Amino acid sequence: MMQSCSFCKNKNIKNTKVEYTYKHDGKYMIFHNVPALQCEYCGEKYFEAKVLKQIEKEFISVQLGKKTPKERSVAVEDFDKLVA
Ligand SMILES: [Zn+2]
Repeated sequence: MMQSCSFCKNKNIKNTKVEYTYKHDGKYMIFHNVPALQCEYCGEKYFEAKVLKQIEKEFISVQLGKKTPKERSVAVEDFDKLVA
């Protein structure tokens, strides 16, 4: 269990569930309800190594053809091109 946030040193760390976006080789996969510890002050999130390993494993399965319950397209823009 964490004692304090490594960024702001706040000691109030809560157990929560968050959305996690996994990126690899220009491919993205979004996971909902990922267990995490989150700093109540700065919002920094911490994940257990086993959670990250499971996400990576699932991403690989999907790359190899496993079907996911939901798929959606994602809008992508280059911010540089929005600013005149
Ligand atoms: Zn913090």
